[in-house]
Amino acid sequence: MGDEIERRGEGAVTPTVPWEYAAAPESKEIVRIQDRYGLFIEGRFVGPLSGRTFETINPATEETLAVISEAGPEDVDLAVRAAEKAWESSWRDLPGRERAKYLYRIARSLQERSREFAVLESLNGGKPIKESRDVDLPLAAAHFFYYAGWADKLGFAFPNREARPLGVAGQVIPWNFPVLMAAWKVAPALATGNTVVLKPAETTPLTALLLAEVIQEADLPPGVVNIVTGAGATGAAVVNHPGVAKVAFTGSTEVGKIIRRAMAGSGKRLTLELGGKAANIVFEDAPIDQAIEGIVNGIYFNQGHVCCAGSRLLVQESVFEPVLDKLKERLGTLRVGDPLDKNTDVGAINSAAQLAKIQELVESGVEEGAEIYQPECHLPERGFWFRPTLFTGVSQSHRIAREEIFGPVLSILTFRTPEEALEKANNTPYGLSAGVWTEKGSRILWMTERLRAGVIWANTFNRFDPSSPFGGYKESGFGREGGLHGLEPYLDLVPR
Ligand code: NAP
Ligand code: MG
Repeated sequence: MGDEIERRGEGAVTPTVPWEYAAAPESKEIVRIQDRYGLFIEGRFVGPLSGRTFETINPATEETLAVISEAGPEDVDLAVRAAEKAWESSWRDLPGRERAKYLYRIARSLQERSREFAVLESLNGGKPIKESRDVDLPLAAAHFFYYAGWADKLGFAFPNREARPLGVAGQVIPWNFPVLMAAWKVAPALATGNTVVLKPAETTPLTALLLAEVIQEADLPPGVVNIVTGAGATGAAVVNHPGVAKVAFTGSTEVGKIIRRAMAGSGKRLTLELGGKAANIVFEDAPIDQAIEGIVNGIYFNQGHVCCAGSRLLVQESVFEPVLDKLKERLGTLRVGDPLDKNTDVGAINSAAQLAKIQELVESGVEEGAEIYQPECHLPERGFWFRPTLFTGVSQSHRIAREEIFGPVLSILTFRTPEEALEKANNTPYGLSAGVWTEKGSRILWMTERLRAGVIWANTFNRFDPSSPFGGYKESGFGREGGLHGLEPYLDLVPR
């Protein structure tokens, strides 16, 4: 410090005071993790008939957090039967205003226990506490509030048609937004009068099991929501069970294809929310500093484990250099490390398997001739970590420009004209989201009309709201979640 002041006195270049953030860890005290968890069937936690269990870990430390039950086909069968029974004996005939009360109760409880959920989400999934606290939990509660509001208004939502529930919804979700995805699935299903069998991801079961506790406390009739933990085979048992009337899946395109094939001809209803490779397009007239924040939020939010991540940055050639310089500088300020530290921007990679997938794709980028940039940063010794990364010199044929990496890795391409930007943006089998940065309103409209993506952000990125529908084109899936659109997949709309 003394040296710094001396140099400043000498009128040296802009002084950089070397300082470090003090650790600011969120306390774990609020969370009580049990040693083992049963399956949540018919309102109770029960041991698995399969007799099998697995361990769930903290990806930031590799420590075991709890032993989780693995639901086999016989357990899934019990859960589906419980859901059928609950549907027939109470839930489908309950007036909407009564169903709404339960949803409001769950929403309030999520708010009241928000810190507990947020800490548990970060412990089990590796995401920074500031994200689970400020994004995942508020949005999860908002989803229950929002759909509670629809429960008694279904008769007005679809004029001249009667809205009838379908029965048991089988729902399978991924590990990137565990409790938020559970809310996206459970809230509209219950609001519309369906009952649920939910399968959380293998690596992140804990907040779904805490949600089961909340559901117990909300006094939901037993069997209206059942939560069966396990891996892919458990998910397959849920979607293929003949008692399931509707399947809602969020996950990879690969598994989405398997599910669609398996369900063909079954008469079940299906929605698929799959992968993405979104273009985030920056025009030369864009507010550059604001765009930098949007680019960073677009790809480094949640370690890039985001289906709608802006993983392909398209920059107009005339501003490529300033954008790249500013982006590199900003990357250097990102703090990677302990997910429970309130200063952390980039947390742990969710699993060893996901880390291996990211590493493999990044290596392919280097081998295929793109230029890699990673800022200096210290990574913890234990746990799964990956530096925020960007690639320049990327061509459209590179795997890093075509395949979903699902990690903190940005591929940068350039363009000269809006037509070229559009052609490059749409040159993907996916179509989940896109971003457009420009000062010109007419250009935003021109682009959004032509981009083949379900969600398009203008001068912002990764914004979510329960009233806004979300979903894909092409290999990103079909069906919408959120908003009025999110009710339809759970309803039979019969002409009155
Ligand atoms: P995944 O392997 O497809 O898994 C998703 C869920 O499906 C998990 O619960 C998984 O269990 C289960 N599953 C696996 N095989 C199954 C099968 N044959 N039948 C039924 N269920 C099965 O995806 P992931 O790797 O966990 O998640 C990352 C992917 O999800 C990315 O591609 C991402 O883009 C996509 N995603 C999309 C959205 C969206 O809204 N569009 C949101 C989030 C993520 P396990 O946990 O045991 O694998
Ligand atoms: Mg998987």
